Amino acid sequence: MFCTNCGKQISEISKFCAYCGATVPIKKTQLKEIQLIFNRPKKFFACLAPMRVYIDKKLVLELKNGKSGKVIVEPGKHKILLEMWSTKGEEEFEFSKEYSKVNLDISLKMGLWNNKLNISNIRNEK
Ligand SMILES: [Zn+2]
Repeated sequence: MFCTNCGKQISEISKFCAYCGATVPIKKTQLKEIQLIFNRPKKFFACLAPMRVYIDKKLVLELKNGKSGKVIVEPGKHKILLEMWSTKGEEEFEFSKEYSKVNLDISLKMGLWNNKLNISNIRNEK
């Protein structure tokens, strides 16, 4: 790769340019894994029912009431399916390789006729 400051060729793994001393930004393409943290809210209702998280149709987590769980994924698009009893919520998300950690807050709304299960809030961390 080349130094973004002086343009000289430098080693792929260097953190500083050997010629001008400039800090070399960490190449974002080097991040190949993203930590997804799923946070299930603490609720009195249905507190004993497990909540299942599927990513790309694969069961990856079972969350207990008020608990969090971690899954490692590759950057890109992923289908996330949340399931509790007969209630399901599916959505596709794109995770950028810019971030190494993403917090996903799950929202669980219980209604008389239909329950809603979805991801209500996403917080990216570098
Ligand atoms: Zn340089």
